Amino acid sequence: MALEINDLCVNCWACEPLCPNKAIFAASPHFEIDPDKCTECLGDHAAPQCAEICPIEGAIVDELGDALNPPGSLTGIPLQLLAEAAGAQAGTAAKVSSS
Ligand code: SF4
Ligand code: SF4
Repeated sequence: MALEINDLCVNCWACEPLCPNKAIFAASPHFEIDPDKCTECLGDHAAPQCAEICPIEGAIVDELGDALNPPGSLTGIPLQLLAEAAGAQAGTAAKVSSS
């Protein structure tokens, strides 16, 4: 039972000092969590401290790949607007590549 950091991580260092088990370490291209040390903070805190402080939605996931801070959870941006923005970005990228 351990959390994971993925490539959305921006290497901000915020989570590293908060881990009660020193499971988080700087690595390239992004921070990592040692699965042998992470307890998901059970017994130490009511919630995983890394996910509580992480400013990036989706950067920390559980063993199923589910984000502890899913899209919109930190920014408050409604999912519909995020989907529309992603669609607009995709449309712009398609225009640029075809021109
Ligand atoms: S969930 Fe807790 S124990 Fe696991 S890496 Fe995050 S802060 Fe450390
Ligand atoms: S707080 Fe989030 S973005 Fe910052 S280093 Fe940790 S996982 Fe990466």
